[in-house]
Amino acid sequence: MALIVQKYGGTSMGSVERIENVAERVIRARKQGDDVVVVVSAMSGETNRLLGLAKAISERPTPRELDMLLSTGEQVSIALLAMALNKRGYPALSYTGSQVKIQTDRSYTKARITHIDDEKIRAMIALGKVVIIAGFQGVDEDGNITTLGRGGSDTTAVAVAAALKADECQIYTDVDGVYTTDPRMEPKARKLDRITFEEMLEMASLGSKVLQIRSVEFAGKYKVPLRVLSSFEDGEGTLISLEEEIMEAAIITGIAFSRDEAQINVIDVPDEPGVAYKILGPVGDANINVDMIIQNIGENGKTDFTFTVPRTEYEQTIEILKQHLYDVQGVIIEGSDIAKVSVVGVGMRSHAAVASTMFKALAKEGVNIRMISTSEIKISVGIDEKYLELAVRTLHDAFALDKVK
Ligand code: ADP
Ligand code: ASP
Ligand code: MG
Repeated sequence: MALIVQKYGGTSMGSVERIENVAERVIRARKQGDDVVVVVSAMSGETNRLLGLAKAISERPTPRELDMLLSTGEQVSIALLAMALNKRGYPALSYTGSQVKIQTDRSYTKARITHIDDEKIRAMIALGKVVIIAGFQGVDEDGNITTLGRGGSDTTAVAVAAALKADECQIYTDVDGVYTTDPRMEPKARKLDRITFEEMLEMASLGSKVLQIRSVEFAGKYKVPLRVLSSFEDGEGTLISLEEEIMEAAIITGIAFSRDEAQINVIDVPDEPGVAYKILGPVGDANINVDMIIQNIGENGKTDFTFTVPRTEYEQTIEILKQHLYDVQGVIIEGSDIAKVSVVGVGMRSHAAVASTMFKALAKEGVNIRMISTSEIKISVGIDEKYLELAVRTLHDAFALDKVK
């Protein structure tokens, strides 16, 4: 008998019929003799609807109240799923994050889980109940409701699995696994049977929203066996596995992309020691993540400096730069949206030609590369957003990702 944590996302919980379907799946696992703890998201569209209401009241809603509001979406779905199970003769109990309890730090809208009280969950399992826990939410030390950031139910599920030392954490979603790239962008994308934690971590952090990045971090840290599968069809899904277990790694495993970036240009700053610090220091102090960076070759004692930040933090970054560079004569601060495409694979560690294959393929299609950044297992390029789809498909072809290796 195994202990399984199952997580069902928004689309899987999107209607009464779909919630009934989830109940059937939970029952199937029970019939196999497994104990099941279920984590669910809000019904699809609900979190966005709630955000819309908040924005209609205020451009910048108070974070505490925003979390109070957003957490209601998950409260609806846990109760409905529990009813669906109870109706079928399977006793189920739903719990909010604060009831369980899922303790977090105080950072509203992007809280981190610090501790999960597994006592109540274990006691209910021992009584034969199906425990259903609201994803995406927790409670801080003072009893305030917090949320974990978009896609946070994945993290709740993995954290619960870690706390319970579950045999597997299964993430049920609207695709049947992790693909070589988002199948909505490239229909030729291929489902992977396995991907390493390291690669999944890169894919998630570079924009593949199939798993929230923190859920992958958690799974890696606590060695939680993690699997992504479809809630609509049967199959093995994709196992996120430790690197050692993968016998033959491909050079490139997948392509991630993101539209969530903005480029900032600081033009005509004096070309002198300390310029990078003067510009990026205050941005870092404000907790804004700077990603790709370029400093151009100086001319006439002046230089240009370009970097990217999350698009949601674009305005704030411009404000900060204006404040800190107000006394610099002739400096121009401007920016624009930028998209990022990344190729990811542990196999590239031992293959030098990945960058040239990538740049050659993009050049052939006339995609201009505005910025580049690399790490051991990824190469990212910043490009015009209008070329994003072309770039993803071109690279998918160039690395023959549709072919089984
Ligand atoms: P859920 O509501 O179940 O949490 P999400 O929308 O958060 O579902 O995540 C599933 C979606 O992730 C898919 O519908 C797919 O469009 C997207 N996605 C992005 N990159 C990938 C990838 N590499 N493999 C599979 N799905 C991906
Ligand atoms: N409902 C939340 C969201 O839409 C959390 C989740 O679905 O994982 O972001
Ligand atoms: Mg999700």
